[in-house]
Amino acid sequence: MAREEKITCINCPLGCPMILTIDDGGEVTSIDGYKCKVGKKYAMEEYANPTRVLTATVLTQGSSQDLLPVRTAAPIPKAKLVEGMRVLAKVKVSPPVAMGGVVISNLLGTGVDIVATSDLDSRSERR
Ligand code: SF4
Repeated sequence: MAREEKITCINCPLGCPMILTIDDGGEVTSIDGYKCKVGKKYAMEEYANPTRVLTATVLTQGSSQDLLPVRTAAPIPKAKLVEGMRVLAKVKVSPPVAMGGVVISNLLGTGVDIVATSDLDSRSERR
């Protein structure tokens, strides 16, 4: 028996609510509610392999900043977010780090790096 799954498109402020119809074999047989091809593509990807950008902060040492904001350089599988947060919770970063600099390469084998979203200066360099 076919089932339905609701997915909201997050690619623009319209936030189109979409309904996917899925057959017994797990195949998507129809998608309703999208207003453009971006939404249809997003619905298919979100159903098959949902991904998210992971944003967080990591601890620092040797800097007057206690935390450094970081993010994945690209979306990673949603199923890896919690494990990724656990990895980040164990990290301590030392300056200098430039915005965009790699803090962790190839997070959890995803092929995606964790990068800094701001500079991290040492104590004496901080204004
Ligand atoms: S389907 Fe198109 S119009 Fe609707 S939210 Fe997504 S990007 Fe925007």
